[in-house]
Amino acid sequence: MTEWVTGRVSAVRHWSDKLFSLRVEADLAPYQAGQFTRLGLMLPTAEGALERVAHAYSFVNPPQAGYHEFYIVLIPQGRLTPHLQQLQVGDTLWLARQASGFLTLDELPAGRDLWMLSTGTAIGPFLSLLAAGGIAERYSQLVLAHGVRWGSELSYRDEISQLQARWPGRVHYVPCVTREPWREGIAGRIPAAIAQGALEACVGLPFSADASRFVLCGNPQMVKETLQALQLRGFRKHLRREAGEICMENYW
Ligand SMILES: Cc1cc2nc3c(=O)[nH]c(=O)nc-3n(C[C@H](O)[C@H](O)[C@H](O)COP(=O)(O)OP(=O)(O)OC[C@H]3O[C@@H](n4cnc5c(N)ncnc54)[C@H](O)[C@@H]3O)c2cc1C
Repeated sequence: MTEWVTGRVSAVRHWSDKLFSLRVEADLAPYQAGQFTRLGLMLPTAEGALERVAHAYSFVNPPQAGYHEFYIVLIPQGRLTPHLQQLQVGDTLWLARQASGFLTLDELPAGRDLWMLSTGTAIGPFLSLLAAGGIAERYSQLVLAHGVRWGSELSYRDEISQLQARWPGRVHYVPCVTREPWREGIAGRIPAAIAQGALEACVGLPFSADASRFVLCGNPQMVKETLQALQLRGFRKHLRREAGEICMENYW
């Protein structure tokens, strides 16, 4: 049974008409960087009763932050996100007290280089993992690829710059913008960039069986096609019963 606690919105940031971040104060059970919890609101049913509607959202913050932050995209016809987008400082919402998820440092395969490949709001758990810091002790090179349609969807740039300054030369940020020419990174989707060798070329870091480990998060189509592209290069899923190089989490 989910244990629900009340949270209070302490900050709201609207990055665009669809993308927003909620900072929430709530008494949650301890969690790890890369995990998610569930956010919920009481919403009216067709019959006029109230029911709790809740979905999974990843923490963007490191656990030591002292607040909980979520990066959310509005699904215009969605049940919950249009209401989450309306929340203001001081409003309350429900949070599952206990976090879940396996995109955590102790579940990632050991290696030299970690390639974190995300789309949309799924950059969130990677920002959490990076800011938590332990990842920089485990891996030498940290690549953060972010697939979006438009350059205006490349949120959290200041935080990414701070991470790059914290570990000079070790945090490689690769925006992958599909619908408009962009001044940096890659023009196109992550799976194609892998298949064409463009991702490695952009970072200046070739894939290798010994060194490269991958963690994929976001749009299930991207996750599926990226997995296929990596499997064609000889990499395998990382399972508890059989070590491989690739971990992943689908957002829907
Ligand atoms: C482990 C996990 C972590 C998640 N973390 C986040 C997060 O940090 N931020 C976040 O915005 N969402 C996240 N999601 C998705 C989130 O749980 C909801 O599915 C989403 O917010 C839809 O809510 P809704 O009720 O408005 O839409 P619904 O009425 O439930 O409509 C769902 C449909 O919207 C689309 N959709 C769902 N999520 C997304 C998305 N993120 N980007 C684009 N299209 C989407 C899909 O087509 C899906 O079938 C996560 C999902 C999982 C499983």
